[in-house]
Amino acid sequence: MTGRKFFVGGNWKMNGDKKSIEELANTLNNAKLNPDTEVVCGAPSIYLDYARSKLNPNIDVAAQTCYKVAKGAFTGEISPAMIKDCGVKWVILGHSERRHVFGESDELIGQKVAHALENGLGVIACFGEKLDEREAGITEKVVFAQTKFIADNVKDWSKVVLAYEPVWAIGTGKTASPQQVETSRLTLNKHVSFTSVTQSLSAVLSGSVTGGTCKELASQKDVDGFLVGGASLKPEFIDIINAKA
Ligand code: PGA
Repeated sequence: MTGRKFFVGGNWKMNGDKKSIEELANTLNNAKLNPDTEVVCGAPSIYLDYARSKLNPNIDVAAQTCYKVAKGAFTGEISPAMIKDCGVKWVILGHSERRHVFGESDELIGQKVAHALENGLGVIACFGEKLDEREAGITEKVVFAQTKFIADNVKDWSKVVLAYEPVWAIGTGKTASPQQVETSRLTLNKHVSFTSVTQSLSAVLSGSVTGGTCKELASQKDVDGFLVGGASLKPEFIDIINAKA
């Protein structure tokens, strides 16, 4: 994990079964992937072990969430220790679906980030505004609050990839414009504004990235990679991995 290496994460969300995971793994394993791009596939908890066993070692696996403590009476949750026990090195935290469907607060996400990092996982930390927040002109305020709770819990930024995922762009076919990406990057740099950090800060873009749009998006100076939902389940994920020439 190195800051600002081109990074492409796939977030399978609650999709797939053993058969489709095996097929997708075979497709990825047999494809020519840019060796300079870091590739991570986010699998459902129950398939972490299976996905890890099927994917080539050059393709990492991520959990899609974890809890903020190591073990105990937390029905349904999984811990970073369990994730690592499955040979998995990453976790996605703060995805907008965790925030808005499951009601996770900025504070809880910050605690999860701290615990995951303390336990040696790499963290794909997501943030981004909803459409009503953008329309109300409070994008920067929302993004600041979210990134502050993340940033306050990070000591080593080389283990963190920040994913800007404007919620209005997720699964909608809309992607953030170069200007919106630049604004988000500037906001990040302003709020996470320690020089050593901005050097190693990896900020990837999320929201309706496809095989068709990835090359142009990848050429923007503020885009260090992608976190991909729907398209990560399809063969076009290979084009996205290879988007950076
Ligand atoms: P999408 O999802 O690529 O399907 O829009 C992105 C995400 O949820 O991060």
